[in-house]
Amino acid sequence: MLSPDLSCAITDHPDLPLFNSEQVTVDVLRLDKMHEVISGNKWFKLKYYLEQAKQQQKDHIITFGGAWSNHIIATAAAGHLLGLRTTGIIRGERPSRYSTTLEKASELGMQFVFLNREEYKEKKLPAGLPGKNDYIIPEGGYGPPGATGAADIVNVFSSRNYTHIVCAVGTGTTMAGLINACPMQQVTGISVLKNNFELEKNISSLLDRGQHNFKLLHDHHFGGYAKHTPALLQFMNDFYAQTGIPSDFVYTGKLFFAVTSLIRGKYFPPHSKILVIHSGGLQGNTSLDKGTLIF
Ligand SMILES: *Cc1c(COP(=O)(O)O)cnc(C)c1O
Repeated sequence: MLSPDLSCAITDHPDLPLFNSEQVTVDVLRLDKMHEVISGNKWFKLKYYLEQAKQQQKDHIITFGGAWSNHIIATAAAGHLLGLRTTGIIRGERPSRYSTTLEKASELGMQFVFLNREEYKEKKLPAGLPGKNDYIIPEGGYGPPGATGAADIVNVFSSRNYTHIVCAVGTGTTMAGLINACPMQQVTGISVLKNNFELEKNISSLLDRGQHNFKLLHDHHFGGYAKHTPALLQFMNDFYAQTGIPSDFVYTGKLFFAVTSLIRGKYFPPHSKILVIHSGGLQGNTSLDKGTLIF
């Protein structure tokens, strides 16, 4: 059905002196290279929802997110590709000017409903929604079909080459899929949320076999979801200069920062072979002032 180019999801091998001195190898799975809009993990998380919508002959997808959401733009793009109408239920009042994310999603045919923060918390749909041809995808694609899709990420790398897999965590759907698909690897998640200890439970409830071989780390959020500090932005620029790998300040910048500080702190035993999932999301950087990032 949907066809982002899986062959573009190559593995990079950044070779920083730190990795050598700590005797670990690090590969980065570049899911950000798969598709210009539906980047990273979002296509994987969406695909079984969309398949189900098609099977049930629904023609209208409704989903939820913020004004800079990678999930919103990915859903708009996927709907556009598949000929499904899309509506984004957006957190916050209608802005006088759309974010670049909403502008693009709108160009891709997405309609918006803006809810204030209270209404959004309750995921209150406007009267008349959902209609009988409407299909609702939960916020961030969280749910069993999302995790099943995320497990398919394993098809674009050889898991047996690795001892550890590290990913950024928002809803935990991607991480749950990876844990299900990689029983022999230790999966470590870097939460980008501040003190969201519900995540462990949310992830566990998507696991096939009640596994416990995962670690979720809560100390790398830089102040909370979508918050950033000068140190984070500096790190992202330095990391790009050293490796050629761009990152976003909401997810993957925090992920790469965490991976390097975990390696420095000897979190991974010597000879660990670490795969870091670059889950995309670069479009979110357009919310930063021009010139903040060197890429
Ligand atoms: C959405 C997103 C995540 C979080 O994925 P979850 O499955 O919600 O945990 C991680 N990285 C990027 C770039 C994302 O856009």
